[in-house]
Amino acid sequence: MKHHLGLIKEPSYETRVAFLPEEVKKLIDKYEVKISIEKEYGSPLGIPDAEYTTAGATISSKSEILQNSNLILSINDAMGEQESIPAETSFIGIYNPLFFPERLQKYKNQQALVYSLDRLPRTTLAQAMDVRSSLDALSGYKAVLKATDYYTKVFPMITTATKTLKPARVLVLGAGVAGLQAIATAKRLGAIVHAFDVRKAAGEEVRSLGAQFIEIEGNKEETNAGGYAVEQADDYKKRQQDRINEQLLATDLVICTANIPGKKAPILVDEDGVKNMPSGAVIIDLAAEQGGNCSLTKNNEIVNYNSVKILGDSHLSRELPDAASQLLSGNFFNFIKHMIEKGADNDLITATQVIQTENT
Ligand code: NAD
Repeated sequence: MKHHLGLIKEPSYETRVAFLPEEVKKLIDKYEVKISIEKEYGSPLGIPDAEYTTAGATISSKSEILQNSNLILSINDAMGEQESIPAETSFIGIYNPLFFPERLQKYKNQQALVYSLDRLPRTTLAQAMDVRSSLDALSGYKAVLKATDYYTKVFPMITTATKTLKPARVLVLGAGVAGLQAIATAKRLGAIVHAFDVRKAAGEEVRSLGAQFIEIEGNKEETNAGGYAVEQADDYKKRQQDRINEQLLATDLVICTANIPGKKAPILVDEDGVKNMPSGAVIIDLAAEQGGNCSLTKNNEIVNYNSVKILGDSHLSRELPDAASQLLSGNFFNFIKHMIEKGADNDLITATQVIQTENT
């Protein structure tokens, strides 16, 4: 079967582009896929339509693309409520369906198929398509740079003839992909870094980056959780809270990255903890979209609490749109390539399929 891939424009808040001309050319040359783009598809990155048409794409209206393509790619949910599409059109994107199941309803109504790449298993084979790793790595890096914007002291120790300025003390909560990148970035800037994760295996990775790992006994891990964290017992949560509050007394910057797939993010920083932080402290909460790791976080807002600033933003890779689009376009290319070569009933592809053919 010859595929027809439609690239539709993202909502206006999106700065990233899902598919770049380089991948358009590769897909057309190697797999004879027909590709249609909406006019000004690459405009968030300033990529002219001519670069896409030179790569082999044609320009069409959104409604033509939705009617004629069997595969539709966009980062976000880009289909309007009123749109009508042929049954079994496949939508590929990043929908976070475990936390936002309501996003799928209109696709179910249209008997569409939805492949959400945040559902890929964390296996070696899936690595080249792993959009979450790509975006989390960039967000973890950017979170630290963002913190430097709001922090009015310095990250490294600076010695002058008059005084020595102390290095910043950073606490990273959650040491997965984003957390490890935040640790590496804060270390490069000269900060003293501590990190905490409920997964014991994270300790080794934290230490290998030169940071100190906060270990709390009695954690719960499950072998069938796919490498992800699971919810902890109440007595563990209490010890965790006490230990983190103690650490916050001497912490200038907190980077929050702790998440459990499909669940509300764990609260690791409470109001008492924030109250006792040094003046001028900054909290960057990357878990904000799923409720945040700090109880005072508001998604997409900056909260000022005493002298502490709390920024809630789960999509900081949008502030690195070129880098993020490069990685995403490569991930999406590898996914579509895998789909074409192995078929849609391949294990990796079905793991991402969040609406089944029988419309369940
Ligand atoms: P995630 O975004 O779901 O969560 C981020 C981190 O928060 C995780 O390390 C998690 O353990 C931690 N966390 C959850 N609850 C916590 C709590 N109460 N207190 C402190 N920390 C808490 O995770 P992720 O970054 O996507 O990584 C999940 C796993 O997948 C990790 O083991 C990672 O190494 C692995 N991974 C594997 C591959 C691969 O092999 N292809 C790719 C990426 C990630």
